[in-house]
Amino acid sequence: MIGRIAPSLQSTGPSSMSSSGTSSTPDHPSETPLAPTGAPAAELTLAVALAQDLIRCRSVTPEEGGALALIDQRLAEAGFATHRLTFSAPDTPDVENLYARYGREAPFLLFAGHTDVVPPGDEARWRHDPFGGAIEEGLIFGRGASDMKGGVAAMVAAALEFIKANPNFPGSVGFLLTGDEEGPAVNGTVRLLEWVNDERGDKFDQCILAEPTNPNVLGEMIKIGRRGSLSGRVVLSGKPGHVAYPHLADNPIQHLPALIAALKEVPLDEGTAHFAPSNLEFTTIDTGNPSANVIPAEVHVAFNIRFNDIWTPETLADEIRRRITAAGLGERARVTFRPTNATAFVTEPGPFVSVLSRAVEAETGLKPALSTSGGTSDARFIKDYCSVVEFGLVGQTMHQLDEHVATADIDALTAIFRRVLQDYFAPAR
Ligand SMILES: [Zn+2]
Repeated sequence: MIGRIAPSLQSTGPSSMSSSGTSSTPDHPSETPLAPTGAPAAELTLAVALAQDLIRCRSVTPEEGGALALIDQRLAEAGFATHRLTFSAPDTPDVENLYARYGREAPFLLFAGHTDVVPPGDEARWRHDPFGGAIEEGLIFGRGASDMKGGVAAMVAAALEFIKANPNFPGSVGFLLTGDEEGPAVNGTVRLLEWVNDERGDKFDQCILAEPTNPNVLGEMIKIGRRGSLSGRVVLSGKPGHVAYPHLADNPIQHLPALIAALKEVPLDEGTAHFAPSNLEFTTIDTGNPSANVIPAEVHVAFNIRFNDIWTPETLADEIRRRITAAGLGERARVTFRPTNATAFVTEPGPFVSVLSRAVEAETGLKPALSTSGGTSDARFIKDYCSVVEFGLVGQTMHQLDEHVATADIDALTAIFRRVLQDYFAPAR
């Protein structure tokens, strides 16, 4: 099912990375323990070797860590026109990004992802070096193995293999890679999309984002959309006073049950064709009151809503305000919402989703569910430019200690993406 790649494309291991010229890029093959039962580095497939090289780059947001340089080099060698872009904005760190395109014609299939990772946390609590990429018993360990350096490695390897076999295919393949997905998401995908669209005039037709979409097993789940996210806060005001003289005060805490009931008792909706019901969760309630004998002046209630395609952030904010007023709390409640760029969206199942579904089924034997579950992703920005679907590795250990994926899954994902490329550019095959 998963073929070995041509020797000329095979990575020669970490030492081949030294030309990226980034000091943080590891260059010490001797530090890489060979798996006791595993194969030596020379036996690794292109995708797994690339995943290992990427994990060895310390690209904790917003550090580039050599990860984009590495991919830039590989894509440029294969004939991609590559562009490294650093974006800045007040109050957020500068972020490096990479855009690459092979081919000039339509259709244009874009692969998107991020090479930044969340911090490893307490490195002493890892059984494996979080930036070591150790391979043991068929598993590759390291921060980003699942989210999402393994996915990035699979899509890059698939494209390199496809182009090597089909250098003159009719169309274009591109990569949109950011170093800012796990951070503020200001100087990453949003700015890069604007730049590609405004400065280069490139128009994508479809996009695959290789975030880890599978809960347990590769092949279970494609994400065809994402819920929106809206965070809000209600400040209920009262009249402060001495706890021994409550008749002279008005305790705002007494009004919490009415507020909670107003926001929670009646569901926001029943769900839609592709989405679960919208859901509000309270995240904190506090008065900031340090003393035991004072009735507080205010109580702050924060919440987050994950919402479906019935709502926009604006209509949802209106509904929350309406409910608070209807509960008789309008006079004492101040309601505010954080700005959000996470609106709900869905890519309706059609030919493009089918190409991906068929490829997943062919390689894994599973018919993937078409889901909109989970958190937000950069797909929420890409959907304004082209239709976007998400499929990647198993997400079970993402952001955890000893994050890992099966190397066989990286190879299977590569095979899936190769099939997608084949079917997408040669549908009559
Ligand atoms: Zn991710």
